[in-house]
Amino acid sequence: MERNELLYTGKAKKIYATNQENVLLAEYLDQATALNGLKKDKVEGKGRLNNQITGRIFEYLAEKGIGNHYLKETSKTEQLIKRVEMISLEVVVRNVSAGSFSKRFGVEEGTDLPFPVLEFYYKKDKLDDPFMNDEHIFVLGIATKEEILEIKKQTIEINTVLVEMFKKIGIRLIDFKVEFGKTADGEMILADEISPDTCRLWDSTTSDHLDKDIYRRDLGNIIPVYQEVLERLNNM
Ligand code: UDP
Repeated sequence: MERNELLYTGKAKKIYATNQENVLLAEYLDQATALNGLKKDKVEGKGRLNNQITGRIFEYLAEKGIGNHYLKETSKTEQLIKRVEMISLEVVVRNVSAGSFSKRFGVEEGTDLPFPVLEFYYKKDKLDDPFMNDEHIFVLGIATKEEILEIKKQTIEINTVLVEMFKKIGIRLIDFKVEFGKTADGEMILADEISPDTCRLWDSTTSDHLDKDIYRRDLGNIIPVYQEVLERLNNM
C-alpha cells in the first residue's frame, strides 16, 4: 500500500491518502499536547505506543462485534484505516468522576458514578471544544436524531466491552473519549483512536495513573506508563 498525499495534520496524528480510494493511512506522532494545544512537547516513542495500543483495542472491539475504522498496522507508527467522513463530536463516557466532571460539579475524583454518563463536545479547536447536548447537535446539523441515537448506543456498547477488557488487565476505566465517522455506505462507525491519550486508566490496585494525566499534571514520563499498558494488552 502506497502512502500518498498528506490530507490532514492533527495534534498527534497525520492522515495520508493511499492508492486505494477508501483506505487512508494514519501516522502516530511523537507529540504530546494538552490544554487545547497550549502545552506541547516532543515525546520520543509515544507515536509507536499509541499506534500499537489503538490497534490492539480496535482489534479487540472488532472481535466483540463492534465495527470500527481500523484495518491493520503497517509499521510501528502507522496503521491503515477505512476512509470515513468524521462527525465533529467528541463523545465522552464517564464511569468514575474525574477531570472536568469533578471540577465542574465539585465531585471528588475517584467517586463511582451510578451508571455511565455520556457527554458531547463540539470538536472545534477555535471554540475550545464546547460542551453540547443532543439538541445542539441536531440544530447545528452535526448529526441527525437517528445518528445521535446510534452514536449513543454504540458508545455504551464500547464502554461495556472496554470496562471488562481493562478489568482483565488490572485497570479501571475511569473515563474516555471516542469519535465516530460515516463510511461511503453511510454506516456510522467508531474511528480516531483509543489510547492512554484519550482514556483515564487507573491501576486497579494502586490507583496510579496509566494515562495522559501524567503529562497534563506534570507527574513524570508517560513512556514507561504507556509501555506498561501495551504490555498488559499484549499479555491479555
Ligand atoms: N479527552 C480526550 N480529548 C479531549 C478531551 C478529553 O481524549 O479533547 C478524554 C480525556 O482523556 C478523558 C475524558 O476524555 O479520558 C474526559 O476528559 P475531561 O472532560 O475530564 O477533560 P480534561 O479535564 O481531561 O481536559
